[in-house]
Amino acid sequence: MRAVSASHFGPTSRAAAAKALPGVAEANQDNEEFVIVGVPKEIFPGERRVALVPAVLLNLKKVGLEVVIESGAGVEAGYPDALYVEKGAKVAPDRKTVFATADIITQVLCYGANDSTGKADIPLLRREQALIGFLRPLGSREVLQEIAATGVKAFSVELMPRTTRAQSMDALSSMATACGYKAVLEAADTLPRFYPMLTTAAGTITPARVLIVGVGVAGLQAIATARRLGAVVSAYDLRPVVKEQVQSLGARFVELPIEAENAQDARGYGTAQNEAFYAKQRELMARVVAENDVVITTAVVPGKKAPVLITAEMVKGMQPGSVIVDLAADRGGNCELTKPKETIVAHGVTIIGTINLASSLPHDTSSLYARNLTAFLQHLVKDGKLNLDMSDEITRETLLTQGGEIVQPRVREFFSLPALAAPVKA
Ligand code: NAD
Repeated sequence: MRAVSASHFGPTSRAAAAKALPGVAEANQDNEEFVIVGVPKEIFPGERRVALVPAVLLNLKKVGLEVVIESGAGVEAGYPDALYVEKGAKVAPDRKTVFATADIITQVLCYGANDSTGKADIPLLRREQALIGFLRPLGSREVLQEIAATGVKAFSVELMPRTTRAQSMDALSSMATACGYKAVLEAADTLPRFYPMLTTAAGTITPARVLIVGVGVAGLQAIATARRLGAVVSAYDLRPVVKEQVQSLGARFVELPIEAENAQDARGYGTAQNEAFYAKQRELMARVVAENDVVITTAVVPGKKAPVLITAEMVKGMQPGSVIVDLAADRGGNCELTKPKETIVAHGVTIIGTINLASSLPHDTSSLYARNLTAFLQHLVKDGKLNLDMSDEITRETLLTQGGEIVQPRVREFFSLPALAAPVKA
């Protein structure tokens, strides 16, 4: 991508759009190089987050990034237009202007992750434009090819390496933290019991028992939250390495007499197991599930349908009034009875198939996401220019499409696309 100076607006729609936003050009009359970052309003139904918040704009400005925000984009997260203007952003009257003006579009749920209304953005994307956000890189090949066909350089935040260097850019962890926390609260809100032990004049109430299945970032936050609320917490994961982390949070690690083969891949993710393993796992978990009042499931494997770990029979074995929150609902669900986006009651047990829980804490999740994106933009932009160094792991791993093609090697392999003949050049 070419950085654009104010005097270099060619006869493009970007120039025309920039004229419609005089502040952008005027702010750069001194002819400094600058890149325009656009923030459209999220269009996934019910989505309340926004990609950038006012507090990060100063840091973006320092690396030569000007922000154009669609009017009202931050309102649902508690960031009205005036707060962005105060920090130097320009407000565009509509979505089309944001896409036409910006060199880099930042979104929370791009087409791909937004399988409901995201397609509407395809005609708005331009070759040589960059797009950053959740794109569901192991979702649908056809959708990714549609995005690629626009020529856009799409960066998927899901592909961020889980390394110490990339930690500040790790949006998956930020959102998973919110999901784990909120799942515990949703369950508490539904459970007809207290979480903590209460000693009252009317006698003692025993604490609720909470089981967390899948101990990644969301699971760990769920354990910590349930513990803070006074529940008795236990947790299970097929990766035995998490045992210590579970115990350090004051929960009991559930050990099942079954060992997963290569439980963890090189990047630290849990791996898919064969059906015999899952069958044995379900059999062994039945008793553990029945002993708990709340079960929060987060067990997923990248690029695969979530394993079914709780059967209808196991639900039947739970006490009436118990609650299951299935955080894997949008990946098919860890509970056989889960209905994505719905809350149902089966055998007296409430099963919450919530999706997109991170959107229910939009003020803080937008703030965390904006900080992740700011760190990422600071990494990608040098001296007011998008500067893609393909020898850098963070850039190489996250660049999903470029020049009309899906270019990320692992994603190509996942979709059985042949390896590209030449390495990707910036
Ligand atoms: P995730 O959302 O991919 O998966 C959630 C959990 O489900 C995982 O712990 C997985 O082992 C578990 N799981 C899968 N199948 C299961 C089954 N059949 N039974 C029980 N559990 C099952 O996880 P995540 O939160 O994205 O974290 C993935 C890994 O990345 C973890 O090792 C985590 O510690 C690591 N991580 C590292 C960093 C970093 O170093 N910067 C940051 C975040 C996460």
